[in-house]
Amino acid sequence: MHREWITKSEQETLAVGKSIAASLKPGDVLALNGDLGAGKTVFVRGIARGLGVEGIVNSPTYTIVHEYAGRYPLYHFDVYRIEDEQEMLDTGYYDYLEQGIVVIEWAELISGILPKKHAEVCIEKLDADTRKITIESVE
Ligand code: ADP
Ligand code: MG
Repeated sequence: MHREWITKSEQETLAVGKSIAASLKPGDVLALNGDLGAGKTVFVRGIARGLGVEGIVNSPTYTIVHEYAGRYPLYHFDVYRIEDEQEMLDTGYYDYLEQGIVVIEWAELISGILPKKHAEVCIEKLDADTRKITIESVE
């Protein structure tokens, strides 16, 4: 599966996240990559909204993971400041994988412990308000 979108605003990226939430289920893992300010968190916020999560959805930069109770549990990781993969495992990462939908900002930093089957989401900043979002299934 390969899909791509061009978005022209934060709202459009939010809407893309929201629309793909409909096809997510527990056990799914989304590995997000893209520069700082690309829109990874906006995209995750869209997924959360699509799962019926209201309230604040921000990058869990200092705590590594935020949990949201939507239609399914959503576990939102940001591993930007992680030292090593062990620190990720120490969060209970493998348990989260079984219990809900896992999305990981800066997933390239923990590529060695991603499940073999996951989806790669890449967000590229084309200009101030334009982003290219690609989603690719990896098996
Ligand atoms: P990241 O998590 O990748 O560091 P954020 O989602 O926190 O990035 O921030 C993205 C920033 O870019 C926000 O300030 C948002 O308003 C802005 N922005 C501008 N255009 C877009 C767009 N098309 N999609 C997503 N965000 C956009
Ligand atoms: Mg972020």
